[in-house]
Amino acid sequence: MKTYIVGNWKLNFTVGEASIYLHKLLKALPNYRDIDVVVAPSTIALQPLSLQVDRHKIKLAAQNAFYRDYGAFTGETAFSQLRGVADYSIIGHSERRYIFGEDDKMIAKKVAAAIRNRITPILCIGETESERAFGETADVIRDQLIGGLSEVADDNVDKVIVAYEPVWAISSSKVAKMATPDEIAEVVKLIRANLKEVYGEKTAKEIPVLFGGSVSPANAGAYLMVPGVNGLLIGGSSLILSEFVDIIETAKRTRS
Ligand code: PEP
Repeated sequence: MKTYIVGNWKLNFTVGEASIYLHKLLKALPNYRDIDVVVAPSTIALQPLSLQVDRHKIKLAAQNAFYRDYGAFTGETAFSQLRGVADYSIIGHSERRYIFGEDDKMIAKKVAAAIRNRITPILCIGETESERAFGETADVIRDQLIGGLSEVADDNVDKVIVAYEPVWAISSSKVAKMATPDEIAEVVKLIRANLKEVYGEKTAKEIPVLFGGSVSPANAGAYLMVPGVNGLLIGGSSLILSEFVDIIETAKRTRS
């Protein structure tokens, strides 16, 4: 299976800054066949960057989009409009869930809309600090995972990437504690067990599971070695070119 290194730029960089970053990143990277390097700029930068990018080296992801393909939905961008522009889309990021009130039902529709439009969904799931403290992690993971996949036909579930992002480990969260490899391994095991129970062993093995939460050059190697982890979703560190390149090179070393 490939390794996925995904940078989530969130609400950072003007279109010009994003273009300069991409230019430098393209120059810094060889073509790693077994690593998919993905960056997720703001929606406004996706189209110009899609003309600039060398897709053999780097792919583009949307950070969010709307599940209806057209219609009276002021201010939204549809997955159908991103077709051919973005190869991936982050869906259900905790900032979408907790700042913009997205629930599992809406997220499920977005996952299905992405697949319908040939965009690979990166479905983010993860418990908050208090859910973990109350022993609810397994339930939250199951609800968000199975809920998020509920609108996808069974034979399309293997088109999804899952990202485990404990909310308490994300650098912008109030607590931002670093997850230990053991904590991650336990939840990744749970994710695959749930996938196996609902969709069967083959699908459970085929779906890439990424980890995200304060990933940096200092911990990327350890996180990539966690059994069952197929890549990383990176916020803060992906904004610093040298750190992002360092993490990609770590991924390359970890694989070989
Ligand atoms: C994220 O927001 O998806 C994320 C993982 O951020 P950070 O790496 O900054 O914790």
